[in-house]
Amino acid sequence: MKALGIRAGEIGAQLIDAASPSDVGDNQVLLKTLYTGICGTDRGITSGQLKFARPQAGSDFLIMGHEGLAKVQKVGRMVKTIEEGEIVVPMVRRPGNCLQCRIGRQDNCDDGDFVEAGIRGKDGFMREYFLDEERFLVRVNGNSIGRLAVLTEPLKNVVKSFDVYRTVSRRSIAQCDDGSFDCRRVTVAGGGPIGILFAMIFKSYGFDVQLFDRNDHLGKLDRISKRLGIGFKISEGTGLPPDLMEGFDVFVDTTGSPSVIGKGLEGLAHNGRMILFGTSTGGSYPLTGDAIISLIEKNVTIMGTVDGSKSHYIEALTYLSSWKEMFPGALEDMITQEAAPQDSIAALNTKVPGEIKRVIKWS
Ligand SMILES: [Zn+2]
Repeated sequence: MKALGIRAGEIGAQLIDAASPSDVGDNQVLLKTLYTGICGTDRGITSGQLKFARPQAGSDFLIMGHEGLAKVQKVGRMVKTIEEGEIVVPMVRRPGNCLQCRIGRQDNCDDGDFVEAGIRGKDGFMREYFLDEERFLVRVNGNSIGRLAVLTEPLKNVVKSFDVYRTVSRRSIAQCDDGSFDCRRVTVAGGGPIGILFAMIFKSYGFDVQLFDRNDHLGKLDRISKRLGIGFKISEGTGLPPDLMEGFDVFVDTTGSPSVIGKGLEGLAHNGRMILFGTSTGGSYPLTGDAIISLIEKNVTIMGTVDGSKSHYIEALTYLSSWKEMFPGALEDMITQEAAPQDSIAALNTKVPGEIKRVIKWS
């Protein structure tokens, strides 16, 4: 079967002919991959920039792919909740032995002793077939969202961030005087898939959302923003758009740019909340004494969040079904390109103009 991955110590993805899984263990499920999404992490792995990427123990080749959607081909004798023919989303992070991992919250792992499919220490889903355990599979109930379910994995990160946002936001009242969130301004930095999904989740609760990016991806971001009923602005360089410098109650960073985050912090309103999700490998921005005083005096909360638990995957599927109706065409607009496995290396290496989310169609 075809499998896409990277050899340890080398740069650049390879499409190899890998052995197909044979025996299905009692607790295992045999899956046929339908789609895998391509994201910045995959590109970071193939370019050698993500230093923590590694093959699973005993192998020198990492099969990539962590945004998966698959169809159940066969289930083991002891599998109870999943049936042949069902569509599932496989989870990325697999637990280690710390307390958080033992209670199914490996997204909050205490010691970093976990593995992640397609990223570090475990083969991923960019292959035609794979075996997995029942407990790491999330069932896509019904089939009405089709290939949009491939967005479950990126969205579960956003759902967890929103969960964290709501938990820590209890420190002060976030609602407006009519009980809604209409008066609360949210600024989202970065119009990639994660930025758009953050805009969607806040907008679906009624927040006043503004999204910005350095370019509009051939008009795509403008169009998606109109479908969502949010504002879209273009920023220059590593700054914020001139008319979007301050007064926001929530600032969501998906760029990882220290200067965007620094300026975002400076522009937060009193009781402002900052969500950090984007990562980058360079740059700096000064944290001055005056800025620290301002963060304290304004009761600012900064939260970094990563990954998500199984419940966040399940919630993500509920959001996708509801957003399909709430924001007609917006989710469909995000999946801009579909590549065949034989074109997957080119798809990984080159981002085409206007691309938001590219997927590989395996079957
Ligand atoms: Zn752990």
